[in-house]
Amino acid sequence: MHRFYGNGIANMSSSTSPAAASAPTESALDFLRLDDELSEDERLVRDAVARLVDERVLPIIGECFESARFPRELLPALAELGVFGSTLQGYGCAGLNAVSYGLICRELERGDSALRSFVSVQSSLCMYPIHAYGSEQQKQQWLPRMARGEVIGCFGLTEPQGGSDPANMRTTARRNGDGWRLNGSKLWITNGHIADLAIVWAQTPEGMRGFLLERGTRGFSAEEIKHKFSLRASNTGALFFDDVHLPAEAALPGATGIKAALSCLSQARFGICWGALGAAQACLGEALAHAGERELFGRPLSHTQAVQLRLAEMVRKLAGAQLLALQLGRLKERDALSAAQISLGKWNNCRIALEIARDCRDLLGGAGISIEHAAIRHMLNLESVVTYEGTETIHQLTIGRAVTGIAAF
Ligand SMILES: Cc1cc2nc3c(=O)[nH]c(=O)nc-3n(C[C@H](O)[C@H](O)[C@H](O)COP(=O)(O)OP(=O)(O)OC[C@H]3O[C@@H](n4cnc5c(N)ncnc54)[C@H](O)[C@@H]3O)c2cc1C
Repeated sequence: MHRFYGNGIANMSSSTSPAAASAPTESALDFLRLDDELSEDERLVRDAVARLVDERVLPIIGECFESARFPRELLPALAELGVFGSTLQGYGCAGLNAVSYGLICRELERGDSALRSFVSVQSSLCMYPIHAYGSEQQKQQWLPRMARGEVIGCFGLTEPQGGSDPANMRTTARRNGDGWRLNGSKLWITNGHIADLAIVWAQTPEGMRGFLLERGTRGFSAEEIKHKFSLRASNTGALFFDDVHLPAEAALPGATGIKAALSCLSQARFGICWGALGAAQACLGEALAHAGERELFGRPLSHTQAVQLRLAEMVRKLAGAQLLALQLGRLKERDALSAAQISLGKWNNCRIALEIARDCRDLLGGAGISIEHAAIRHMLNLESVVTYEGTETIHQLTIGRAVTGIAAF
Protein backbone atom coordinates (compact mmCIF):
# COMPACT_ATOMS: atom_id res chain seq x y z
CA MET A 1 0.00 0.00 0.00
CA HIS A 2 1.54 3.29 -1.11
CA ARG A 3 0.55 6.29 0.89
CA PHE A 4 0.61 9.95 0.03
CA TYR A 5 0.59 12.71 2.61
CA GLY A 6 -0.27 15.87 0.75
CA ASN A 7 -0.36 19.52 1.66
CA GLY A 8 -2.97 18.80 4.28
CA ILE A 9 -0.22 17.70 6.63
CA ALA A 10 -1.01 20.70 8.86
CA ASN A 11 -4.24 19.00 9.82
CA MET A 12 -2.57 15.78 10.85
CA SER A 13 -2.78 14.88 14.51
CA SER A 14 0.01 13.05 16.28
CA SER A 15 -1.72 12.96 19.64
CA THR A 16 -1.51 9.27 20.50
CA SER A 17 0.98 9.98 23.24
CA PRO A 18 0.48 10.84 26.88
CA ALA A 19 2.75 13.91 26.45
CA ALA A 20 1.21 17.33 25.71
CA ALA A 21 0.30 17.62 22.04
CA SER A 22 -1.65 20.09 19.98
CA ALA A 23 -2.47 20.33 16.30
CA PRO A 24 0.45 21.47 14.10
CA THR A 25 0.32 25.14 13.20
CA GLU A 26 2.50 24.97 10.09
CA SER A 27 2.71 22.66 7.11
CA ALA A 28 5.99 20.77 6.92
CA LEU A 29 5.59 20.56 3.16
CA ASP A 30 4.87 24.24 2.59
CA PHE A 31 6.36 25.90 5.65
CA LEU A 32 6.73 29.31 4.01
CA ARG A 33 3.23 29.21 2.49
CA LEU A 34 4.64 29.53 -1.00
CA ASP A 35 1.49 27.99 -2.43
CA ASP A 36 -0.17 31.32 -1.52
CA GLU A 37 2.15 32.99 -4.03
CA LEU A 38 0.76 30.95 -6.92
CA SER A 39 -1.80 32.36 -9.32
CA GLU A 40 -5.21 30.77 -9.71
CA ASP A 41 -4.14 29.24 -13.04
CA GLU A 42 -0.97 27.80 -11.50
CA ARG A 43 -3.01 26.21 -8.70
CA LEU A 44 -5.36 24.64 -11.21
CA VAL A 45 -2.42 23.08 -13.05
CA ARG A 46 -0.91 21.84 -9.79
CA ASP A 47 -4.19 20.31 -8.63
CA ALA A 48 -4.94 18.59 -11.93
CA VAL A 49 -1.54 16.90 -12.04
CA ALA A 50 -1.68 16.10 -8.31
CA ARG A 51 -5.00 14.33 -8.83
CA LEU A 52 -3.61 12.23 -11.63
CA VAL A 53 -0.61 11.28 -9.49
CA ASP A 54 -2.79 10.36 -6.52
CA GLU A 55 -5.33 8.37 -8.52
CA ARG A 56 -3.28 6.77 -11.28
CA VAL A 57 0.42 6.85 -10.35
CA LEU A 58 0.71 6.08 -6.64
CA PRO A 59 -1.38 2.87 -6.81
CA ILE A 60 0.94 1.30 -9.43
CA ILE A 61 4.33 2.92 -9.13
CA GLY A 62 5.78 0.51 -6.55
CA GLU A 63 5.03 -2.41 -8.85
CA CYS A 64 6.50 -0.52 -11.83
CA PHE A 65 9.69 0.18 -9.91
CA GLU A 66 9.96 -3.40 -8.70
CA SER A 67 9.40 -4.91 -12.14
CA ALA A 68 11.41 -2.21 -13.96
CA ARG A 69 8.40 -1.25 -16.09
CA PHE A 70 7.70 2.20 -17.54
CA PRO A 71 3.94 2.87 -17.06
CA ARG A 72 3.26 3.71 -20.70
CA GLU A 73 -0.48 3.35 -20.14
CA LEU A 74 -0.41 6.76 -18.38
CA LEU A 75 0.62 8.68 -21.52
CA PRO A 76 -2.90 9.44 -22.83
CA ALA A 77 -3.96 10.84 -19.44
CA LEU A 78 -0.78 12.93 -19.19
CA ALA A 79 -1.31 14.22 -22.73
CA GLU A 80 -4.91 15.04 -21.90
CA LEU A 81 -3.66 17.29 -19.09
CA GLY A 82 -1.36 19.07 -21.54
CA VAL A 83 1.91 18.28 -19.76
CA PHE A 84 3.92 17.50 -22.93
CA GLY A 85 5.57 20.65 -24.25
CA SER A 86 3.43 22.56 -21.78
CA THR A 87 5.31 25.88 -22.05
CA LEU A 88 5.45 25.93 -25.85
CA GLN A 89 3.16 28.17 -27.89
CA GLY A 90 1.08 26.71 -30.73
CA TYR A 91 1.23 23.25 -32.34
CA GLY A 92 -1.27 21.83 -29.84
CA CYS A 93 0.83 22.85 -26.81
CA ALA A 94 -0.62 24.48 -23.71
CA GLY A 95 1.53 27.65 -23.60
CA LEU A 96 1.80 27.63 -19.78
CA ASN A 97 4.23 29.77 -17.80
CA ALA A 98 7.49 28.57 -16.24
CA VAL A 99 6.13 28.11 -12.71
CA SER A 100 3.29 25.96 -14.04
CA TYR A 101 5.87 23.74 -15.75
CA GLY A 102 7.74 23.58 -12.44
CA LEU A 103 4.59 22.57 -10.60
CA ILE A 104 3.91 19.83 -13.17
CA CYS A 105 7.42 18.49 -12.56
CA ARG A 106 7.04 18.72 -8.78
CA GLU A 107 3.75 16.86 -8.71
CA LEU A 108 4.91 14.17 -11.15
CA GLU A 109 8.10 13.55 -9.21
CA ARG A 110 6.07 13.30 -6.00
CA GLY A 111 4.82 10.20 -7.78
CA ASP A 112 8.16 9.06 -9.15
CA SER A 113 11.23 10.58 -10.80
CA ALA A 114 10.65 8.29 -13.79
CA LEU A 115 7.49 10.15 -14.78
CA ARG A 116 9.08 13.56 -14.38
CA SER A 117 12.08 12.32 -16.36
CA PHE A 118 9.79 11.24 -19.18
CA VAL A 119 8.08 14.63 -19.26
CA SER A 120 11.42 16.49 -19.05
CA VAL A 121 12.79 14.55 -22.00
CA GLN A 122 9.65 14.77 -24.10
CA SER A 123 9.08 18.47 -23.38
CA SER A 124 12.42 20.15 -22.71
CA LEU A 125 14.85 17.95 -24.58
CA CYS A 126 12.81 16.95 -27.64
CA MET A 127 9.87 19.28 -28.25
CA TYR A 128 11.78 22.39 -27.15
CA PRO A 129 14.63 21.99 -29.72
CA ILE A 130 12.15 21.24 -32.51
CA HIS A 131 10.19 24.35 -31.51
CA ALA A 132 13.28 26.54 -31.06
CA TYR A 133 15.53 25.26 -33.85
CA GLY A 134 13.31 23.32 -36.27
CA SER A 135 11.87 24.28 -39.64
CA GLU A 136 8.16 25.01 -39.94
CA GLN A 137 7.72 21.65 -41.65
CA GLN A 138 9.49 19.82 -38.78
CA LYS A 139 7.34 21.60 -36.20
CA GLN A 140 4.11 20.73 -38.03
CA GLN A 141 5.21 17.15 -38.52
CA TRP A 142 6.24 16.35 -34.96
CA LEU A 143 5.02 18.76 -32.28
CA PRO A 144 1.24 18.11 -32.34
CA ARG A 145 1.77 14.34 -32.20
CA MET A 146 4.32 14.67 -29.43
CA ALA A 147 1.92 16.91 -27.47
CA ARG A 148 -0.70 14.16 -27.79
CA GLY A 149 1.82 11.57 -26.56
CA GLU A 150 1.57 9.64 -29.84
CA VAL A 151 5.25 10.11 -30.62
CA ILE A 152 7.81 9.48 -27.88
CA GLY A 153 11.10 11.36 -28.08
CA CYS A 154 14.59 10.82 -26.72
CA PHE A 155 17.63 13.09 -26.57
CA GLY A 156 21.00 11.63 -27.48
CA LEU A 157 23.90 13.73 -26.23
CA THR A 158 25.87 11.57 -23.76
CA GLU A 159 28.47 9.18 -25.14
CA PRO A 160 30.41 6.38 -23.46
CA GLN A 161 33.61 8.42 -23.10
CA GLY A 162 32.04 10.94 -20.68
CA GLY A 163 28.77 12.82 -20.28
CA SER A 164 30.36 15.69 -18.36
CA ASP A 165 32.39 16.72 -21.40
CA PRO A 166 29.93 16.68 -24.31
CA ALA A 167 32.32 18.67 -26.50
CA ASN A 168 34.48 15.51 -26.66
CA MET A 169 31.91 13.97 -28.99
CA ARG A 170 32.80 11.11 -31.31
CA THR A 171 29.48 10.67 -33.10
CA THR A 172 29.89 12.23 -36.53
CA ALA A 173 27.59 13.36 -39.34
CA ARG A 174 29.39 13.75 -42.67
CA ARG A 175 27.88 15.20 -45.83
CA ASN A 176 26.56 12.42 -48.06
CA GLY A 177 25.14 13.75 -51.31
CA ASP A 178 22.24 16.03 -50.33
CA GLY A 179 22.04 14.45 -46.90
CA TRP A 180 24.23 13.14 -44.08
CA ARG A 181 25.89 9.90 -42.99
CA LEU A 182 25.72 9.34 -39.22
CA ASN A 183 28.10 7.09 -37.25
CA GLY A 184 28.68 6.64 -33.53
CA SER A 185 26.79 5.76 -30.35
CA LYS A 186 25.05 7.27 -27.33
CA LEU A 187 24.77 5.92 -23.80
CA TRP A 188 22.34 6.43 -20.90
CA ILE A 189 19.52 7.78 -23.03
CA THR A 190 16.14 8.16 -21.29
CA ASN A 191 13.37 6.62 -23.44
CA GLY A 192 16.17 5.38 -25.71
CA HIS A 193 14.64 1.99 -26.30
CA ILE A 194 11.01 3.09 -26.65
CA ALA A 195 11.41 6.35 -28.56
CA ASP A 196 9.86 6.88 -32.00
CA LEU A 197 12.07 9.89 -32.62
CA ALA A 198 15.62 10.63 -31.42
CA ILE A 199 17.20 14.07 -31.29
CA VAL A 200 20.81 13.13 -31.99
CA TRP A 201 23.75 15.48 -31.52
CA ALA A 202 26.75 14.87 -33.77
CA GLN A 203 30.00 16.54 -34.81
CA THR A 204 29.90 17.83 -38.36
CA PRO A 205 32.54 19.72 -40.36
CA GLU A 206 30.64 22.88 -39.30
CA GLY A 207 30.62 21.99 -35.58
CA MET A 208 28.04 20.20 -33.43
CA ARG A 209 24.55 19.89 -34.92
CA GLY A 210 21.21 18.39 -33.93
CA PHE A 211 19.39 15.84 -36.14
CA LEU A 212 15.98 14.18 -36.12
CA LEU A 213 16.26 10.42 -36.46
CA GLU A 214 13.22 8.17 -36.74
CA ARG A 215 13.01 4.71 -35.28
CA GLY A 216 13.32 2.06 -38.00
CA THR A 217 15.83 4.05 -40.08
CA ARG A 218 18.33 1.61 -41.55
CA GLY A 219 21.56 1.41 -39.52
CA PHE A 220 19.94 2.83 -36.36
CA SER A 221 19.43 0.49 -33.41
CA ALA A 222 18.71 0.86 -29.69
CA GLU A 223 19.25 -1.42 -26.71
CA GLU A 224 17.68 -1.23 -23.30
CA ILE A 225 20.04 -0.79 -20.35
CA LYS A 226 18.93 -3.29 -17.73
CA HIS A 227 19.90 -4.03 -14.11
CA LYS A 228 19.55 -0.41 -12.97
CA PHE A 229 19.00 0.14 -9.24
CA SER A 230 17.68 3.65 -9.84
CA LEU A 231 14.89 5.08 -12.03
CA ARG A 232 13.67 1.54 -12.52
CA ALA A 233 10.28 2.75 -13.80
CA SER A 234 12.05 4.74 -16.52
CA ASN A 235 13.30 3.33 -19.80
CA THR A 236 17.01 3.92 -20.40
CA GLY A 237 18.86 2.86 -23.53
CA ALA A 238 21.95 2.98 -25.69
CA LEU A 239 21.73 4.17 -29.31
CA PHE A 240 23.91 2.93 -32.16
CA PHE A 241 24.38 4.58 -35.57
CA ASP A 242 26.05 2.50 -38.24
CA ASP A 243 26.30 4.40 -41.52
CA VAL A 244 22.81 5.84 -41.06
CA HIS A 245 21.75 7.90 -44.07
CA LEU A 246 19.84 11.03 -43.07
CA PRO A 247 18.08 13.26 -45.61
CA ALA A 248 19.02 16.94 -45.62
CA GLU A 249 15.74 17.84 -43.92
CA ALA A 250 16.66 15.69 -40.88
CA ALA A 251 18.98 18.44 -39.62
CA LEU A 252 17.45 21.01 -37.26
CA PRO A 253 18.36 24.18 -39.16
CA GLY A 254 18.92 26.34 -36.08
CA ALA A 255 20.62 23.72 -33.88
CA THR A 256 24.23 24.55 -34.59
CA GLY A 257 27.02 24.53 -32.01
CA ILE A 258 27.11 23.07 -28.52
CA LYS A 259 25.15 26.06 -27.21
CA ALA A 260 21.99 24.72 -28.88
CA ALA A 261 22.31 21.40 -27.04
CA LEU A 262 23.09 23.18 -23.76
CA SER A 263 20.03 25.44 -24.16
CA CYS A 264 17.84 22.30 -24.12
CA LEU A 265 19.58 21.11 -20.95
CA SER A 266 18.84 24.46 -19.29
CA GLN A 267 15.12 23.93 -19.92
CA ALA A 268 15.24 20.43 -18.48
CA ARG A 269 17.39 21.36 -15.49
CA PHE A 270 14.89 24.04 -14.54
CA GLY A 271 12.22 21.32 -14.37
CA ILE A 272 14.51 19.15 -12.24
CA CYS A 273 14.90 21.98 -9.71
CA TRP A 274 11.15 21.66 -9.12
CA GLY A 275 10.86 17.92 -9.60
CA ALA A 276 13.33 17.13 -6.83
CA LEU A 277 11.06 19.05 -4.44
CA GLY A 278 8.26 16.59 -5.17
CA ALA A 279 10.42 13.59 -4.25
CA ALA A 280 11.55 15.34 -1.05
CA GLN A 281 7.96 16.25 -0.13
CA ALA A 282 6.77 12.68 -0.62
CA CYS A 283 9.53 11.38 1.66
CA LEU A 284 9.08 14.01 4.36
CA GLY A 285 5.31 13.56 4.43
CA GLU A 286 5.72 9.83 4.81
CA ALA A 287 8.39 10.12 7.55
CA LEU A 288 6.39 12.71 9.48
CA ALA A 289 3.34 10.48 9.54
CA HIS A 290 5.47 7.52 10.58
CA ALA A 291 7.08 9.52 13.39
CA GLY A 292 3.60 10.37 14.67
CA GLU A 293 2.48 6.74 14.70
CA ARG A 294 5.55 4.72 15.61
CA GLU A 295 5.81 4.19 19.38
CA LEU A 296 9.22 3.46 20.87
CA PHE A 297 10.22 3.68 24.53
CA GLY A 298 6.58 4.37 25.40
CA ARG A 299 5.99 7.40 23.16
CA PRO A 300 5.67 8.24 19.49
CA LEU A 301 8.94 9.04 17.75
CA SER A 302 7.72 12.57 17.01
CA HIS A 303 7.71 13.30 20.76
CA THR A 304 11.48 12.94 21.03
CA GLN A 305 13.79 15.91 20.64
CA ALA A 306 16.26 14.08 18.41
CA VAL A 307 13.55 13.24 15.89
CA GLN A 308 12.14 16.76 15.96
CA LEU A 309 15.63 18.14 15.28
CA ARG A 310 15.85 15.89 12.23
CA LEU A 311 12.40 16.92 11.02
CA ALA A 312 13.22 20.59 11.54
CA GLU A 313 16.44 20.16 9.59
CA MET A 314 14.49 18.64 6.71
CA VAL A 315 11.91 21.43 6.82
CA ARG A 316 14.75 23.99 6.72
CA LYS A 317 16.29 22.40 3.64
CA LEU A 318 12.98 21.90 1.85
CA ALA A 319 11.69 25.43 2.50
CA GLY A 320 14.91 26.98 1.16
CA ALA A 321 14.81 24.78 -1.94
CA GLN A 322 11.16 25.65 -2.58
CA LEU A 323 11.94 29.35 -2.33
CA LEU A 324 14.85 28.91 -4.73
CA ALA A 325 12.69 27.07 -7.28
CA LEU A 326 9.99 29.73 -7.16
CA GLN A 327 12.50 32.54 -7.66
CA LEU A 328 14.07 30.70 -10.61
CA GLY A 329 10.58 30.35 -12.08
CA ARG A 330 9.78 34.02 -11.72
CA LEU A 331 13.18 34.94 -13.26
CA LYS A 332 12.49 32.56 -16.15
CA GLU A 333 9.12 34.16 -16.77
CA ARG A 334 10.92 37.53 -17.11
CA ASP A 335 13.45 35.90 -19.45
CA ALA A 336 16.12 36.82 -16.92
CA LEU A 337 17.28 33.37 -15.78
CA SER A 338 20.95 32.46 -16.36
CA ALA A 339 22.46 29.00 -16.84
CA ALA A 340 24.52 29.47 -13.67
CA GLN A 341 21.39 30.25 -11.64
CA ILE A 342 19.80 27.07 -12.98
CA SER A 343 22.97 25.20 -11.98
CA LEU A 344 22.58 26.48 -8.42
CA GLY A 345 18.99 25.25 -8.33
CA LYS A 346 19.74 21.87 -9.88
CA TRP A 347 22.70 21.22 -7.58
CA ASN A 348 21.03 22.46 -4.40
CA ASN A 349 17.59 20.95 -4.89
CA CYS A 350 18.83 17.51 -5.96
CA ARG A 351 21.25 17.49 -3.02
CA ILE A 352 18.62 18.46 -0.43
CA ALA A 353 16.13 15.98 -1.88
CA LEU A 354 18.67 13.17 -1.68
CA GLU A 355 19.61 14.08 1.89
CA ILE A 356 15.95 14.27 2.92
CA ALA A 357 15.15 10.94 1.22
CA ARG A 358 18.07 9.23 2.99
CA ASP A 359 17.12 10.61 6.40
CA CYS A 360 13.45 9.70 5.90
CA ARG A 361 14.49 6.21 4.86
CA ASP A 362 16.37 5.91 8.14
CA LEU A 363 13.49 7.32 10.21
CA LEU A 364 11.32 4.49 8.88
CA GLY A 365 13.76 1.96 10.33
CA GLY A 366 13.71 -1.49 8.77
CA ALA A 367 10.40 -0.72 7.08
CA GLY A 368 12.24 2.01 5.19
CA ILE A 369 13.98 -0.49 2.96
CA SER A 370 10.64 -1.86 1.73
CA ILE A 371 9.01 -0.76 -1.51
CA GLU A 372 5.82 -0.54 0.59
CA HIS A 373 7.17 2.89 1.55
CA ALA A 374 8.18 5.61 -0.89
CA ALA A 375 11.46 6.75 0.69
CA ILE A 376 13.77 4.01 -0.61
CA ARG A 377 12.35 4.33 -4.14
CA HIS A 378 12.82 8.11 -4.16
CA MET A 379 16.25 7.80 -2.56
CA LEU A 380 17.43 5.40 -5.25
CA ASN A 381 15.88 7.48 -8.03
CA LEU A 382 17.55 10.62 -6.77
CA GLU A 383 20.97 9.01 -7.22
CA SER A 384 20.29 9.30 -10.97
CA VAL A 385 18.69 12.72 -10.73
CA VAL A 386 21.72 14.12 -8.93
CA THR A 387 23.98 12.69 -11.69
CA TYR A 388 22.14 13.29 -14.96
CA GLU A 389 21.78 16.70 -16.58
CA GLY A 390 25.14 17.60 -15.07
CA THR A 391 26.73 16.16 -11.95
CA GLU A 392 27.16 18.28 -8.84
CA THR A 393 30.78 18.98 -9.76
CA ILE A 394 29.80 20.26 -13.19
CA HIS A 395 27.21 22.63 -11.67
CA GLN A 396 29.68 23.80 -9.03
CA LEU A 397 32.22 24.54 -11.76
CA THR A 398 29.52 26.38 -13.75
CA ILE A 399 28.82 28.59 -10.74
CA GLY A 400 32.58 28.98 -10.16
CA ARG A 401 33.00 30.16 -13.74
CA ALA A 402 30.12 32.59 -13.40
CA VAL A 403 31.54 34.27 -10.31
CA THR A 404 35.24 34.25 -11.29
CA GLY A 405 35.10 34.45 -15.07
CA ILE A 406 37.45 31.43 -15.21
CA ALA A 407 36.44 28.07 -16.74
CA ALA A 408 38.09 25.44 -14.54
CA PHE A 409 36.36 22.30 -15.87
C1 LIG B 1 19.25 7.23 -15.60
C2 LIG B 1 20.00 8.16 -16.50
C3 LIG B 1 19.34 8.79 -17.56
C4 LIG B 1 20.03 9.62 -18.44
N1 LIG B 1 19.38 10.19 -19.51
C5 LIG B 1 20.09 10.87 -20.46
C6 LIG B 1 19.47 11.33 -21.66
O1 LIG B 1 18.25 11.19 -21.85
N2 LIG B 1 20.25 11.93 -22.61
C7 LIG B 1 21.59 12.11 -22.45
O2 LIG B 1 22.23 12.65 -23.36
N3 LIG B 1 22.21 11.71 -21.30
C8 LIG B 1 21.51 11.08 -20.31
N4 LIG B 1 22.13 10.63 -19.17
C9 LIG B 1 23.56 10.80 -19.03
C10 LIG B 1 23.97 11.78 -17.94
O3 LIG B 1 23.71 13.10 -18.35
C11 LIG B 1 25.44 11.51 -17.62
O4 LIG B 1 25.49 10.28 -16.92
C12 LIG B 1 26.07 12.61 -16.79
O5 LIG B 1 26.22 13.78 -17.54
C13 LIG B 1 27.46 12.19 -16.27
O6 LIG B 1 28.23 11.68 -17.32
P1 LIG B 1 28.97 10.27 -17.11
O7 LIG B 1 28.01 9.28 -16.63
O8 LIG B 1 29.70 9.95 -18.37
O9 LIG B 1 30.01 10.55 -15.93
P2 LIG B 1 31.43 11.28 -16.10
O10 LIG B 1 31.31 12.47 -16.97
O11 LIG B 1 32.44 10.24 -16.45
O12 LIG B 1 31.72 11.79 -14.61
C14 LIG B 1 32.26 10.91 -13.60
C15 LIG B 1 32.61 11.74 -12.37
O13 LIG B 1 33.64 12.69 -12.71
C16 LIG B 1 33.28 13.96 -12.21
N5 LIG B 1 33.88 14.99 -13.06
C17 LIG B 1 33.63 15.22 -14.37
N6 LIG B 1 34.35 16.26 -14.81
C18 LIG B 1 35.09 16.72 -13.76
C19 LIG B 1 36.03 17.79 -13.56
N7 LIG B 1 36.37 18.61 -14.56
N8 LIG B 1 36.56 17.95 -12.34
C20 LIG B 1 36.22 17.13 -11.32
N9 LIG B 1 35.34 16.10 -11.43
C21 LIG B 1 34.78 15.92 -12.64
C22 LIG B 1 31.76 13.96 -12.28
O14 LIG B 1 31.22 14.96 -11.42
C23 LIG B 1 31.45 12.55 -11.82
O15 LIG B 1 31.44 12.49 -10.42
C24 LIG B 1 21.42 9.84 -18.24
C25 LIG B 1 22.07 9.24 -17.15
C26 LIG B 1 21.38 8.41 -16.30
C27 LIG B 1 22.11 7.76 -15.14
